[in-house]
Amino acid sequence: MIQLLMSGTSETPPFDVIIIGGSYSGLSAALALGRARRNVLVIDASDPCNARVPHSHNLLTHDGVPPRVLRSMARADVAKYPTVQFYDGRAEELGGTNGSFAVRTAEGLTHRGRKLLLALGVRDELPPIKGLAECWGISAAACPFCHGYEVRDQRLVVIGNTPETIHYAKLIHNWSDRLAVCTNGPSEQNVEHLSALQQEGITVVETPISEVLHDQGQVKALVFADGSRYDADALFLRSTTTIAEAFTAILGLERTVLGLLKVDHMQQTNVAGVFASGDCTTPMRSLTTAMATGTMAGASITHALMNT
Ligand SMILES: Cc1cc2nc3c(=O)[nH]c(=O)nc-3n(C[C@H](O)[C@H](O)[C@H](O)COP(=O)(O)OP(=O)(O)OC[C@H]3O[C@@H](n4cnc5c(N)ncnc54)[C@H](O)[C@@H]3O)c2cc1C
Repeated sequence: MIQLLMSGTSETPPFDVIIIGGSYSGLSAALALGRARRNVLVIDASDPCNARVPHSHNLLTHDGVPPRVLRSMARADVAKYPTVQFYDGRAEELGGTNGSFAVRTAEGLTHRGRKLLLALGVRDELPPIKGLAECWGISAAACPFCHGYEVRDQRLVVIGNTPETIHYAKLIHNWSDRLAVCTNGPSEQNVEHLSALQQEGITVVETPISEVLHDQGQVKALVFADGSRYDADALFLRSTTTIAEAFTAILGLERTVLGLLKVDHMQQTNVAGVFASGDCTTPMRSLTTAMATGTMAGASITHALMNT
């Protein structure tokens, strides 16, 4: 049975660990910590990055399972351990130092924990193209290992205009020869690199995109500023990712050059007692990576609790 903290509770006894973010990574850490008989509070706003994805792929033993099913199975696994409690809501404020952290939820409850794990995930920001957001997670994605096979040999479009776009287009080419690269405005790419793509049969379109035509998130075509259109079955693009600035600034957490939370090989941040795992710590976004780093964080925190 899933345990929920009773609403109306103001202060609770200190937990060994408070985990903010109870998705794949946070729950993996909670599983390790629950099995280590640690008192854990998992605070989760239930808004994972893959919420709109119909089926997750590239996850051994659960390939093709809907994310909501995975999350509910994961939560049921963790809920078997009586020392783990769940709070369904948003953590709004936090503070404190190693051995005594405080987290205030949206309802104004304050919870205390000796250690803190941030498994917050990231936010995906997309180019402001009409219709694109509706397709994200359904027929538009970033990772071809997750979503390429299902659209193999179909009409694919890469949207991008960064130095990485050429390499990305070559990667997507593994899944289909029917590929176009749309730079959404004059290309900023090396001309030789662009012509190399074209020699491989990849169409390059530089006209700005005015709209993604879709049916309930399933892309049908791109419409360009000159009125022309390109029929498509799936889109691939890199989103811009951001993490919760307020939290990390308060704690004084260091970032990587990519803006992610900086952790060592034990998922420890630069601040004593604060750990981080999952998408907020790595650009290699996948369920297996989120779970693996969460499991590592759980073990690492268990060791840290022995010393303080
Ligand atoms: C469109 C898309 C498709 C994908 N498809 C696949 C796939 O098929 N296969 C695959 O392996 N990977 C896939 N991924 C990647 C995978 O979903 C992520 O790597 C994984 O979800 C990361 O897990 P996480 O626990 O780090 O973060 P998330 O799953 O994003 O969860 C973060 C959690 O933290 C919570 N949270 C954040 N801030 C707070 C707060 N202040 N208070 C309380 N809770 C908070 C959120 O509500 C959320 O529940 C996909 C990603 C996207 C965007």
